[in-house]
Amino acid sequence: MAAGGTGGQQPAGPDAPGGTTARLLEIFNRLYRYFGPRHWWPAETPFEVIVGAILTQNVAWKNVEKAIANLKAAGLLSPEAMARATVEELEPHIRSTGYYRVKAKKLKAFVDYLQERYNSSLKVMFARPLEELRPEILGVFGIGPETADAILCYAGNYPIMVMDAYTRRVFSRLGFFGARVSYQDMQDFFMAHLPRDNRLYNEYHALIDSLANRICLKKAPACLNCPLAGLCPRIGLGETGKSKPAGSSGKE
Ligand code: SF4
Repeated sequence: MAAGGTGGQQPAGPDAPGGTTARLLEIFNRLYRYFGPRHWWPAETPFEVIVGAILTQNVAWKNVEKAIANLKAAGLLSPEAMARATVEELEPHIRSTGYYRVKAKKLKAFVDYLQERYNSSLKVMFARPLEELRPEILGVFGIGPETADAILCYAGNYPIMVMDAYTRRVFSRLGFFGARVSYQDMQDFFMAHLPRDNRLYNEYHALIDSLANRICLKKAPACLNCPLAGLCPRIGLGETGKSKPAGSSGKE
């Protein structure tokens, strides 16, 4: 999928040739050519996406895969079955994801909310308008903006782009915003300059994840191998390629 071929939708705001929208789409196209389609989210059902989005907080995906396999084997990977289970019954299945006690509470909070408000139907929940559903999901225990947006983008197919520490790292090095930019300011920036297109947001976030995971690493980015090298001023990096403070503590 090349950006610009996404159903003929228009950018959200006006943009001159060579302006921010064009630069963001050029970055997308370079990443797409380099990494290919990412096929996110790796899940068989929208509910599995939601469970994965909650469990992947602060842990590598391979640990989440084990937990999802356990939940599936135990017959707990549906909203109804999980709502019938207790927090204590969920805990042993998700141990691999770390902080499993609090994550079991988060899963239970979500399925209880889904049951009470939507009779356990994701179809009904995802029929709500984005601007109403997002604040509602953010009100569920344990659901922050990144998790909420992953649920909305990858399970609900809404036109909303997920932000994370990887996005902050890569795009602050590219010079689009500072290393301390807030989640909401980052999201507002992307969505103001890109077409409102779920498929584009889906793929773009996944491509950023691949770049930050493999090349634009926190401590020693492999700039010589980077598909964005010709476009990147490498803000905050010294000549050795090591990170400099760039006006922040270096924490993400
Ligand atoms: S050129 Fe270096 S700093 Fe810039 S995006 Fe690529 S890896 Fe990151």
